[in-house]
Amino acid sequence: MSADCLFCKIVAGEIPSTMVHEDDLVVAIRDIAPRAPTHVLVMPREHIPSAVDLAEEHGPLLGRLFAVAADVARSEGIVDRGYRLTINVGSGAGQSVPHLHLHVMGGRPFGWPPG
Ligand code: AMP
Repeated sequence: MSADCLFCKIVAGEIPSTMVHEDDLVVAIRDIAPRAPTHVLVMPREHIPSAVDLAEEHGPLLGRLFAVAADVARSEGIVDRGYRLTINVGSGAGQSVPHLHLHVMGGRPFGWPPG
């Protein structure tokens, strides 16, 4: 845990959130400012600041992260219309919380490329 990290505090239950999944490795919460009808953030319990900090040893954790994202998409009913998985890396790409997280967004059309 990183003492000044918002998502570490959410994972630890120190800051309230709407959790849709939690297990020994990852937590999924509803985004506080949703950009789509379904907008869930899937994050590791471990404090990893960004995707650029990932290494091969994180393979099992990433497998869980993506499997949970798929479960969330199925349970939210957004698979048939298609949905967007996004990881912003660095502030220049829109990352505002430096704790790795996967955005799961669905329930509306998405343009390409993303803005
Ligand atoms: P990013 O900009 O890619 O780092 O994504 C961070 C996301 O966290 C944004 O979509 C925010 O709306 C969301 N967010 C910020 N604070 C909270 C919070 N307290 N609970 C849930 N989501 C949050």
